[in-house]
Amino acid sequence: MALRLDTPVQFLKGVGPRRAEALARLDVRTVEDLCYHIPHRYLDATSVTPSTKARVGTEVTVVGRVVSTGVLSTRRRLRVFRAILKDASGVIECAWPGQAFLERTIRAGQLLLVTGPVKFYHGRQLVPREQIVLADADEQDGQDGQDGPVERGVVLPIYPATDGLSHRQIRRMFADHLDAMLPAVDDILPVALRRQFKLLPLRDAFLALHRPPSPDVAEEGRRRLAFDELLDVQLIVARARHLAKGARKGPRFENQKRLTTQLKAALPFELTNGQKRAIRDVFADMVGPERLHRLLMGDVGTGKTVVALFAMLLAAENGYQAVFMAPTELLAEQHARTIGELLAPLGMEPALLVGRLRDAEKAALRRQIAEGEAPVVIGTHALIEDTTGFKRLGLVVIDEQHRFGVEQRAALIGKGEAPDVLLLSATPIPRTLALTLYGDLDISALRERPKGRAPVKTGVRTASARNAVYDFIRAECARGHQAYIVYPVIAESERVDLRAATTMAKTLGDAMAPLEVGLVHGQMKAETRDLVMRRFRDGEINILVATTVIEVGIDVANATVMVIEHPERFGLAQLHQLRGRVGRGEGESHCILLCELAAVPDRLRRFARTTDGFKIAELDLQERGMGELAGSRQSGGLALRFTNLERDGDLVIGARRAARAVIEQDPNLTKRQHEPLRRRIGRRYQRGIELFRIG
Ligand code: ADP
Ligand code: MG
Repeated sequence: MALRLDTPVQFLKGVGPRRAEALARLDVRTVEDLCYHIPHRYLDATSVTPSTKARVGTEVTVVGRVVSTGVLSTRRRLRVFRAILKDASGVIECAWPGQAFLERTIRAGQLLLVTGPVKFYHGRQLVPREQIVLADADEQDGQDGQDGPVERGVVLPIYPATDGLSHRQIRRMFADHLDAMLPAVDDILPVALRRQFKLLPLRDAFLALHRPPSPDVAEEGRRRLAFDELLDVQLIVARARHLAKGARKGPRFENQKRLTTQLKAALPFELTNGQKRAIRDVFADMVGPERLHRLLMGDVGTGKTVVALFAMLLAAENGYQAVFMAPTELLAEQHARTIGELLAPLGMEPALLVGRLRDAEKAALRRQIAEGEAPVVIGTHALIEDTTGFKRLGLVVIDEQHRFGVEQRAALIGKGEAPDVLLLSATPIPRTLALTLYGDLDISALRERPKGRAPVKTGVRTASARNAVYDFIRAECARGHQAYIVYPVIAESERVDLRAATTMAKTLGDAMAPLEVGLVHGQMKAETRDLVMRRFRDGEINILVATTVIEVGIDVANATVMVIEHPERFGLAQLHQLRGRVGRGEGESHCILLCELAAVPDRLRRFARTTDGFKIAELDLQERGMGELAGSRQSGGLALRFTNLERDGDLVIGARRAARAVIEQDPNLTKRQHEPLRRRIGRRYQRGIELFRIG
């Protein structure tokens, strides 16, 4: 019987219900899933060292049969598991200190692969960092009694495995079934695209991945799968963009140079070049034939709000209302204050709608908004409640957009008739990632800070400097400034080896007296936390001890010191966000990473050397890999499995261009050559289905 892509793996010979269950844990249910279960690495047999050539002081990979095993105790009572490996060239001893339990899994007769340094201890000894059982005693590694792949000197795929299903068993499955599976594979990528990007046909790609003659060929296979998934994602975002931008049905704007010109004249500062460029981009979209649908990215303090304010005034001078939504009350109040100051010379005042207001106040405000008397409205989630309605909403601005869910953003946008949309983000991300995750948006970036803002000075200090750091905080406070001290955990019960915010707040309260020390963390009630933050903002608290809850939501220009304890526990992007809490005023600001590790990690030193959020985003991406970042966008999980954004920049840009072209001529993907793409997207992406169902 010929296999089909949707044949359950259970029907493959040698895969019973037990193995099918194990495969399901790896998300492999059908023949197609199995094709896509690709090795996470390859062992290139050409890189295997003959055991007799393993020299002391080098790192090697050796493959051999286990001749004998045993557990020995050293004089210091350390139990060491040992095995003698034999290959064609001779034998070598391997030792695993403290891992006597290996006795249960490594046995004489097995074909074993080990990787690690060769040391000298009564003779040569390989101390494996990693070991893989390639074949059992009674098992040859190849098919039909031939030698195994390593013995044949080829590239050995190593598969992600799970309990009850070893990488060897998975390899066996491919050895047995790949030939029968491949004919079922159907390549739906339009040939023109495949040629343009010099990609392998899909069957060849699977063959390259599962039976590579060399690691380079396997890489070709990976690129092919990467392009496919990038194309899917880009088709989805191109479709979203097509829907979002649409031709203008709602608001029409004209640059009347009235309010915006007055604002420019009244600004107490000069706009940065980045701000000017962003305003130009935004205005061009607003007066253009398609809706504004743009993301404005820039580090904390680069001045995104002013750009948004210009857009709001352009809406206002055309008789529309503009709304600005922030994720916390504190932020909304802050915006109301700064925007209020900037608007005062124009004789305008923003309306501020937050949950904290008394019901009567809220009702009065809502009436004003509904009657169109408030041209500039600022607020929190309170804005998206049913009771808020606008008379003529022309522009929606969403601050810290990632802090809102898709539905929340949609709810606010739904308050108008296809209003223009401007999203703000203080989390810069590398261009390739932006093009993938935010492909449906146009993007403006602010890279420079306003003049006169000194960059925050960052230093790394070790345990011995603790008292000096405290003295420094005292000195800054004596000059009327304020400080943050951030901890990775709230209470010591979480991690006994880490200093915790609650305990340290007490300790510091005593140590820093008479300075006032406050505490905020994520498990406090929101009202209590707000209260403390307000007291800090108003200068009643000198030192604020906190967890990462202060990442977003507070702007105190008077705070000039940010101390981060256990900085090694934070991601680089997170450190950068924390650092952004200071350096917001005129004076010089400092970020101190207080690291008590014996050796300060290099990454912290690299972080201390740069203040460019985009550079840090690149470092962060390298550090964490794609998965986590991609998962963080609440977009219906456009996760990338095969793409390596550092290597595949050309594919990202190519797939984006190709997808936009396809959607332009066939927005519903109903043409014959596109239909299979549409079906695949529907199968793979929840959000894809939704988007293509509309229209
Ligand atoms: P963010 O990008 O973090 O949202 P804001 O818009 O809150 O930054 O701006 C931070 C501060 O910088 C505000 O007080 C704002 O008025 C001020 N600001 C904005 N643009 C400039 C500029 N070009 N020159 C000087 N100060 C500016
Ligand atoms: Mg901001």
